[in-house]
Amino acid sequence: MSTGLDAQVVVIGAGPAGSATAVHLARAGVDVVLLEKDAFPRDKVCGDGLTPRGVHQLLRMGVDITAPGWRRNRGVHVHCDGREIEVDWPDTGRYPDFGLTRSRHDFDELLARHAETTGARLRTRTKATAPLTDAAGRVVGVSATSADGEPVEYRAAIVVASDGVSARSALATGWPRDTRTPIATAARRYYRTDAFHDDDRLHLWADVSRAGDDAALPGYGWLFPLADGRINLGLGGVPHHRHGATDLRATFQQWVTRLPRQWKLEESAAESPLRSAALPMGLNRRPQYRDGLLVVGDSAGMVSPWSGEGIAQAMEAGEIAAGAVTLALTRPPGARREQALRHYPTEVDRRWRTHYRLGNLVAEQVFARYGYRPLLNPAVMGSKMTTRLLARLFAHLRS
Ligand SMILES: Cc1cc2nc3c(=O)[nH]c(=O)nc-3n(C[C@H](O)[C@H](O)[C@H](O)COP(=O)(O)OP(=O)(O)OC[C@H]3O[C@@H](n4cnc5c(N)ncnc54)[C@H](O)[C@@H]3O)c2cc1C
Repeated sequence: MSTGLDAQVVVIGAGPAGSATAVHLARAGVDVVLLEKDAFPRDKVCGDGLTPRGVHQLLRMGVDITAPGWRRNRGVHVHCDGREIEVDWPDTGRYPDFGLTRSRHDFDELLARHAETTGARLRTRTKATAPLTDAAGRVVGVSATSADGEPVEYRAAIVVASDGVSARSALATGWPRDTRTPIATAARRYYRTDAFHDDDRLHLWADVSRAGDDAALPGYGWLFPLADGRINLGLGGVPHHRHGATDLRATFQQWVTRLPRQWKLEESAAESPLRSAALPMGLNRRPQYRDGLLVVGDSAGMVSPWSGEGIAQAMEAGEIAAGAVTLALTRPPGARREQALRHYPTEVDRRWRTHYRLGNLVAEQVFARYGYRPLLNPAVMGSKMTTRLLARLFAHLRS
């Protein structure tokens, strides 16, 4: 067996969380290896939407968002029971006043290559198979299967697990998720239509009905226009014991047929199958550091329980994690290094804890039971001030 390459830090998974972590580490001069099991480009089931908080993270990484392939949006267009409102992203001075869309097929490769250009050593088609631990149970590296199918080991001072919703690395160290936090499921499909070519908003529906019983979907539907003339159409929700699991496929089919005919979302316009995946919400692994292993992004359940947004959170947490790791590496192994690493969960808590706590409660008590409809009643939708406040709350955009 090859002993592989040693590095100061090994990052498992080159989604937004892993690539962002690697960018910030490499920029700080840290020797980092970024392992990705797939080859790029690859698909990832997602809505492909970024709020201003996500755009802010791209800017902080030096990603060129003026290059072709990005599509800007200035806010959301909300549909509910025949009422429609348009809400602009707030102009806070702290975040950009626009969002972006880009298919994850492109986005993830772009970010991973950016990490590589910044100095990270990207190893695609390299699948982490198990964490390496020392006698005390501390994670000291990872064993993997290399692109040519050979077993390989990467030993490192610190390991970052950003392997997505499967969270295999954390689970392999005996680190379960907090089952009290919500997990949503969502499905999306691409269509080609020219109906949205000059539309600069993300569309959201709070009035989707479930197939079968016509109860309210415990979530929402979306339509996000992309730069390449396609749209990403999807829906999702939080399961609840009150109404059981939603048949997402049947609900999607029923919903599409009810959308305006002039949008031409017929079968012949579809450019992909309908695909679904889970969204781990509400900070389901806390604190996000233990025994040499940091968890970032979906592997730490960082999807917002308010909105289902997880890309911005994954990238932001990657930046926080990289900061803590960079400081830790200036210290010798031992108590002071541990203190620096523990700053990662402390900072995540400081920024997000209140927002997620409240979000978990609202997701459980409102969204999972009744969907988003109660929040978008005529009184709310008739008030510009209230809808602006809601947009700020859902996208976590404090001034
Ligand atoms: C249907 C749907 C719609 C969504 N829409 C949106 C949206 O519009 N906006 C938004 O912000 N969020 C959205 N999300 C959430 C968002 O997709 C995730 O929160 C985000 O991708 C999390 O990033 P991540 O890097 O943590 O995980 P991932 O993006 O899942 O990346 C994990 C990476 O790790 C790799 N990996 C896994 N195991 C291994 C291994 N053993 N070895 C090496 N590599 C490994 C994977 O191949 C992958 O590249 C949506 C999710 C779903 C399911």
